[in-house]
Amino acid sequence: MSFLSQRSLNIKPSATLAVAAAALMRKKTGKEVFDLSIGEPDFPMPPYINHGIENALKANKTKYTAVDGILELKEEICLKFKKDNNLAYNPENIIVSTGGKQVLFNAFLSTLNPGDEVIIPAPFWVSYPEMVTLAQGNPIICPMEDHFKLTPEALEKAITPATKWLILNAPSNPTGIVYSAHELEQFAAILVKNPHVWIMSDDIYEHLTYDDIWFKSILNICPELASRTLIINGFSKAFAMTGLRLGYGAGPVELIKSMTKIQSQSTSNASSIVQYAGLTALKGDMSFLTEWRREYQSRRDLCLSIFSKSPKLFVQKPQGAFYIFPRLVGVTDDIQFAVGLLEETGVVVVPGSPFGAPGYFRLSFATSAEILKEACSRIVQYLENRFV
Ligand code: PMP
Ligand code: GLU
Repeated sequence: MSFLSQRSLNIKPSATLAVAAAALMRKKTGKEVFDLSIGEPDFPMPPYINHGIENALKANKTKYTAVDGILELKEEICLKFKKDNNLAYNPENIIVSTGGKQVLFNAFLSTLNPGDEVIIPAPFWVSYPEMVTLAQGNPIICPMEDHFKLTPEALEKAITPATKWLILNAPSNPTGIVYSAHELEQFAAILVKNPHVWIMSDDIYEHLTYDDIWFKSILNICPELASRTLIINGFSKAFAMTGLRLGYGAGPVELIKSMTKIQSQSTSNASSIVQYAGLTALKGDMSFLTEWRREYQSRRDLCLSIFSKSPKLFVQKPQGAFYIFPRLVGVTDDIQFAVGLLEETGVVVVPGSPFGAPGYFRLSFATSAEILKEACSRIVQYLENRFV
């Protein structure tokens, strides 16, 4: 019998973080690396946020804070919801945690009993099923459709009396799909008929959309779902603050209280200094995002134009986030593909299998156009040389 718990043995390590670590190891040995693995903005954190950190340090804001976050930050998050999403929340609806990941954890630990089901549409971000399993729930994977979107039919089929949550993540990691108002209306109609199903809306990429497509919350379409919806968001993607680890959730008071109780017995508050950074970030002028969006879009288009030359890749244009998720044509083993690609060309991508999509791979275009151009050309060349 292993000393390790069944819970630990039941889950896989984060594939995205594992591949990023492998890239780093390779870099350390002095080998050439074109790292398109991790989903992390390459832009520096907007400099105005530094002032928030400096001022917090000068004011000795280094003590414990309220477990669920400082009131000023929670108030600012409520203003953000009003301004960006036209949603009304009070500070008691908000929890601030150490990254969006901890918000998700708190939520699953707060709500799942053994056997409870969580519907996860494939392709999904690698961490959702593992987190559900850790919390002793059952991840129910909704099979992938050609266009990567959950369909009303698939949703209806997946719901059982044991369903606790439906996870919606759009713009999506790894596919970049964004749901239209009509699609959200269709989901909402089904959810209204199934009052036992709660909605976990992971909106962490909300600001990263392209081609005049804009994020819409399911709560704008169907406000009555607010009493059973948890919104997940954070500072990693919108403010390039990945390493600072700051996220937040917004939902019904009873759920937020339970999540706070769990956080009080694990990490306590998110870093006090980082919370002040978050406060400064939200108060600032976010016009930098217009430039980021423009730059991401042009990088996306660069990759798509290179990939369009390869008959071995089938690529759907992402409408948001910063990932492309191509299907390998005539290559069945995506893991072997990713391993071989790294060994032979130095290009790092994440295989599709851990996202619930064997035969695909994910690349992040949150890196320079120069690296993308070289890396994408190498991918096309590698496919040409190795897979006849
Ligand atoms: N949700 C999605 C869809 C993600 O891609 C990530 C990864 N950054 C997170 C949540 C969590 O991000 P963080 O913990 O850095 O806030
Ligand atoms: N979410 C990002 C990714 O998918 C960051 C790494 C992680 O937390 O998974 O690459």
